[in-house]
Amino acid sequence: MASAADTFAFARIPHPAPVAADVRAQVLANPGFGTAFSDHMVSIEYDEAQGWHDAKVMPYGPIPLDPAASVLHYAQEIFEGLKAYRLADGGIALFRPEANAARFNASARRLAMPELPEALFVEAVRQQVLADKDWFPTVEGGSLYLRPFMFATEAFLGVRPSKKYRFLVIASPAGNYFKSGAPAVSIWVSDYTRAAPGGTGAAKCGGNYAASLVPTAEAFLRGHDQVLFLDAAEHRWIEELGGMNLFFVMADGTIVTPPLGGTILPGITRESLIALAREEGLTVREERYALDQWRDDAASGKLVETFACGTAAVVTPVGKVAGRDGEFAIGSGGPGQLTQKLRARLVAIQRGEAADSHGWVKRI
Ligand code: PMP
Repeated sequence: MASAADTFAFARIPHPAPVAADVRAQVLANPGFGTAFSDHMVSIEYDEAQGWHDAKVMPYGPIPLDPAASVLHYAQEIFEGLKAYRLADGGIALFRPEANAARFNASARRLAMPELPEALFVEAVRQQVLADKDWFPTVEGGSLYLRPFMFATEAFLGVRPSKKYRFLVIASPAGNYFKSGAPAVSIWVSDYTRAAPGGTGAAKCGGNYAASLVPTAEAFLRGHDQVLFLDAAEHRWIEELGGMNLFFVMADGTIVTPPLGGTILPGITRESLIALAREEGLTVREERYALDQWRDDAASGKLVETFACGTAAVVTPVGKVAGRDGEFAIGSGGPGQLTQKLRARLVAIQRGEAADSHGWVKRI
């Protein structure tokens, strides 16, 4: 794939004491999600005088931060999440990294942060994967989860955008969410609001996730797997889960998904599935769908499947929905036909096992 390395050189500081091979092998055989980290990280600094500079691949480890750094006080922080896959032929690929780069910059604009040139974002991710290409899980369905993020580092307590930032990419081996046959999840409809019109709902900023922790904990306490948020104004329209977008499949094959109105995250999995479903000849409508309509449609049989989607869990069927006003089941409670078909199509493309007519898979 095209490289930005010619115009932007990354210094290389190899790890003096990388994780021992036998310890790494143990981690890679049972990686879990988000708990183990590879040997290196990519770092790029920003200040107003120099712009983006001091790009390097360096040992993974703690970072110095001034106690007055504005990220610690006003939460000027954004992040992305994407996966690198080992392909059947032994190669390595990223799935739509340019889409993550574009969304990262959209988040940066909303949080008054400097944009990172898209090619530099993608190159940083590529450098990270190449530095730690021995960190791919050995379990089936595993991947290397990549977490690019940027935060404000200027030591200053006034409430205004920082003048200094740091961009980092870290990598974490990740297992498959589904061993075989995706289990259907149970979701809790929260009384809390995730995002209001004009707020930061469409940005991938840490603050959104801090605000979702109590609603998510409540869902877990009540025995559910995920939290669902409704719109802020009427508390009626379905928005998204804590970390996934939602799709509703009707008996006539029509698919409905909430529109991108600024209050939900524009998921890259969401966008990819819309394209794949349309290629299958299905009608996909991006339109508002109400909680009470969902309940009625599930009861009447008009709605047959519901699934959530995102980078981490790919496609997850929703089997049960509960809220203050009671609960209802979706279809048979297990993964529906279309859910399984779309998931299989997407995974086959991501893994290089099916033709990639969109150019989504970037070999590195
Ligand atoms: N919504 C939220 C709130 C998320 O955090 C995520 C995960 N990034 C998604 C949706 C799904 O987005 P994507 O398909 O790009 O992972």
